[in-house]
Amino acid sequence: MFEKILIANRGEIALRVIRACQEMGIHSVAVHSTADADAMHVRMADEAVCIGPPSSMQSYLSIPAIIAACEITGAQAIHPGYGFLSENANFVQIVEDHGVTFIGPTAEHIRVMGDKITAKDTMKALGVPCVPGSDGGVATLEDAQRIGAEIGYPVIIKATAGGGGRGMKVAQTAADMESAFMTARAEGKAAFGNDEVYIEKYLTTPRHIEIQVFGDGKGKAVHLGERDCSLQRRHQKVFEEAPGPSISPEERARIGKVCADAVAKINYIGAGTIEFLYENGEFYFIEMNTRLQVEHPVTESIFGVDLVREQIRVAEGLPMSFSQDDLEINGHSIEVRINAEKLPNFSPCPGKITAFHAPGGLGVRMDSALYDGYSIPPYYDSLIGKLIVHGRNRAEALSRLNRALGELIVDGVDTTLPLFHALLQEEDIHSGNYNIHWLEHWLETNMG
Ligand code: ADP
Repeated sequence: MFEKILIANRGEIALRVIRACQEMGIHSVAVHSTADADAMHVRMADEAVCIGPPSSMQSYLSIPAIIAACEITGAQAIHPGYGFLSENANFVQIVEDHGVTFIGPTAEHIRVMGDKITAKDTMKALGVPCVPGSDGGVATLEDAQRIGAEIGYPVIIKATAGGGGRGMKVAQTAADMESAFMTARAEGKAAFGNDEVYIEKYLTTPRHIEIQVFGDGKGKAVHLGERDCSLQRRHQKVFEEAPGPSISPEERARIGKVCADAVAKINYIGAGTIEFLYENGEFYFIEMNTRLQVEHPVTESIFGVDLVREQIRVAEGLPMSFSQDDLEINGHSIEVRINAEKLPNFSPCPGKITAFHAPGGLGVRMDSALYDGYSIPPYYDSLIGKLIVHGRNRAEALSRLNRALGELIVDGVDTTLPLFHALLQEEDIHSGNYNIHWLEHWLETNMG
């Protein structure tokens, strides 16, 4: 049994892991930059180590600083949260080389899934349905034009190293190909140091449906259904729900089994998410995330499981505490991501919180590292909290969300809360009638 776990992250996800540690009787070690000395994760952990100056490069992304913190405190394992070093295969390797357990998949799994072309090839070979497109990388504009003509426009050009919605460009027609191809390559190079791109058919009205999988690293794996994360701005999710309003129990069982079987075959360990676009009853794999997702609480809510606890268990070599037959969906859950951003441009809005009141009551969960008087530093992601609600059905979850949003007070900085108040007035949100473009259109019409 681990006695001490270091959490290589900050904000709400650091709290999430600390809470799991507390319930399991494990000591937690927080790491923080000088800008986060007063942060909630530092206060809540049993120990805290300052690992560097505000810049993430010199603190939360500094592998030597994190390894040193592990050695100083004697932590036996590291939980990476999401973002930062969570999908850095090199980091995983170094952690393991120091005799510390990485709570997550192996360096090899991260490497395979981190390269989108290799990931797609691997998934295809494992029987997972993929978006039609180029077989591997596309090196020249001529090849890109030929492939575009073959699969038919519109197409999307994607950087193989891409992530976070960057390095993707759509070519509506052949005339757009040159600029889309060049821009995707340049963005890939600038953001990820890799200009390799590939091409996919651009689906025009899909939903974003992702399957939560979980493996024990010994050939056993389960799925925990889907999340619908179609409400996105600039390819970033803002509102997620489970189960997906468009997915039938039969479809869930079918695609869920395909995913669980695929990760079982590769001896995947821990939590993973297989992302699909879903259109006209078909699933098309786009990528796999080899970590806990921001939106994992909606899955926890409907299945009544603690995914972080489970991650820690399998990292220790224990079996999973549930099998596929134990996993039954109960009700409906919705999460909204609250950012310190000023509407309508979503520009970051760091600053001092002058009043904070979290909502409560039946079926309400608030994952946030905010407190009264806290100063949000300008150096990091603008996510300041996630409000998660659970109801017996979708309608109840929506009315609970409305009620909880009414209770939530965040004063002192601008937030994206008004967006959610406005969205709850929309008929399409209530009927579940939206796809990955719905929010962008709505923002243009209502906030443009
Ligand atoms: P990232 O790693 O940057 O998040 P993804 O491959 O997961 O990139 O894609 C992010 C989003 O981009 C998807 O959720 C979807 O909105 C859009 N997208 C990606 N591929 C396609 C496609 N082939 N057709 C239409 N939209 C796509």
